[in-house]
Amino acid sequence: MIQRKTPAQIEKMAAAGAVHARCMKMVSGMVRPGITTAELDLAVEKFIRSQGGEPTFKGFRGFPGSICASPNSMVVHGIPGPYELEQGDIISIDIGVTLDGWVADGASTIPVGEIDETTARLLEVSKESLDLAAAQMVPGNRVGDISNAVQTHVEAAGFSIIRSLVGHGIGETMHEEPQIPNYGMAGRGPEIEEGMVFAIEPMVNVGGPEIFMDDDGWSVYSEDGSMAAHFEFTVAATDNGPRILNPWDET
Ligand code: MG
Repeated sequence: MIQRKTPAQIEKMAAAGAVHARCMKMVSGMVRPGITTAELDLAVEKFIRSQGGEPTFKGFRGFPGSICASPNSMVVHGIPGPYELEQGDIISIDIGVTLDGWVADGASTIPVGEIDETTARLLEVSKESLDLAAAQMVPGNRVGDISNAVQTHVEAAGFSIIRSLVGHGIGETMHEEPQIPNYGMAGRGPEIEEGMVFAIEPMVNVGGPEIFMDDDGWSVYSEDGSMAAHFEFTVAATDNGPRILNPWDET
């Protein structure tokens, strides 16, 4: 069953989302050559706790970090550690914030200094696909409208959607029904109703769509070693249209 949130519950999720958005801006500003992903992780944990929140990912199924930090061809779920960012890298940072019992989830892929043209295009197209998908979060639309918006935009640019990882409903727990694939047919799937909240998260490879998991049981990489991007918002369907609850891209 897809849960619907009351307006009061959506305000609570928006409060978690506001902490999330500020946290993402803070950590994005720290990204530079020489910093380790462990340093980014520590800064995020301190920030979230300073705001009265909890880092949702920490301890989730035994995950050790407060962020997922996934450089270059790593798509998602990277464990923060001694890796030092280098000029020309990209780093995908995924953060979950639990505040007052409600969760906000979101990710951004950030360039480390100057990046090559194809990688810059990957980030641009992937973020655009998230914005287009979020715009479909309207009562009366269907989940397939979200999925199709991502797929159409990404594939038109010549990049690949990862199909085996999906977005999800979100609320008092990080993962609720339904699954939100990043590919599919418009007009299909569950109907979006007022009060539903989804974590929409395109994951995109420059090369083919195949992925593999590292021996650490977490890190997911593009099979062909091509650069990978991940962008995510927590989005509510309201009577006034889509509401992004963690607008980390707003200045
Ligand atoms: Mg998510």
